[in-house]
Amino acid sequence: MLATREYQDIEAKVMRGERLTREDGIRLFHCHDLAWLGALADHVRREKCGDIVYYNVNCHVNLTNICTSHCKFCAFGRDADEKGAYAMTKAQAIAVVEDAMRDPNLAGLHVVSGLHPTWSFEDYLGIVEALHKRFPKLYMKGFTGVEITHFAEISGLSVEEVLRQLRDRGGLQAIAGGGAEILSDRVRGELCPNKATADEWLEVARTAHKLGIKSNASMLYGHIETLEERVDHLLRLRALQDETGGFQTFICFPFLPKHTELGEHVKQTSMWDDLRTMAISRLMLDNFKNIKAYWVMLTVPVAQVALGFGANDIDGTVHKETILHDAGAKSPRALSEDNIIRIIKEAGRIPAACDCNFNILRIIE
Ligand code: SF4
Repeated sequence: MLATREYQDIEAKVMRGERLTREDGIRLFHCHDLAWLGALADHVRREKCGDIVYYNVNCHVNLTNICTSHCKFCAFGRDADEKGAYAMTKAQAIAVVEDAMRDPNLAGLHVVSGLHPTWSFEDYLGIVEALHKRFPKLYMKGFTGVEITHFAEISGLSVEEVLRQLRDRGGLQAIAGGGAEILSDRVRGELCPNKATADEWLEVARTAHKLGIKSNASMLYGHIETLEERVDHLLRLRALQDETGGFQTFICFPFLPKHTELGEHVKQTSMWDDLRTMAISRLMLDNFKNIKAYWVMLTVPVAQVALGFGANDIDGTVHKETILHDAGAKSPRALSEDNIIRIIKEAGRIPAACDCNFNILRIIE
């Protein structure tokens, strides 16, 4: 490759398969040679995962947007008496999935919601149990480390017991990656002091992995965090992955400021930053197999380019995304499977439909 003299040592380390340090990560965030960074990340992706790009035919179900947490970066959460607040019944949640079932290839559900002030753990569990009973063939991925910490708090159960019940009664097969935001007490203290701390989020993942439940990881960047805090976030995930091996994919979420409390003070990230962060995530997270380009937040064109910057996973059809469109996401609310396949093939890669644990269901040659 063609690293400038300044970055030749990092390129040599990557080529030798040597782990990058915190200092390396910080230096990469100051690199302006985006093409080189992308090529390096793409090299690692090719060596580690080949040309398959994973996607899901899935449906997002957000049970309620009523939330006690009031995170400053969130445009989805509402107070119960606020315009647009909703809380689904079992029948309403089932109706959402029935609508999505018009797609014969629908393989699974992604369920995440607000922290409702009066719902009990049983209320959440009862709905996913009803969904699981009504649609037993659909995989169930859901709930973030934040929600699971909340369920433990409101039920008095341990995190482990909450996870067992979600798995055994609710059919939970994998945990969603959201809620990690930036794993820094400083950032969380300023932006989301009312929900799981960094340590609590990591502990949920650790406990789930011990139980054999895989989870995803994420990073919400582009708000008040420093570049050093981005690198430290990646290092905390890398350390836990060394310990458990239970993370399946890492998702870069650029912060979407519209309609959020932070929106007046923070500009949306540039495509440059999004691609740079994607590539550095691939390079720093040397023990993660999969890196996701989440088209809903990145937009479809940027997600497609991100497939050349280290990503090998493009999420799914989604079927009516809500959370990020409340924050002004400009992408469509859903993509057809044909569209996803086209996006992947145009990037010269091989689409593979998978379930929430990355088991391949179909390869589209
Ligand atoms: S990010 Fe999640 S926890 Fe925070 S306010 Fe929004 S819905 Fe609630």
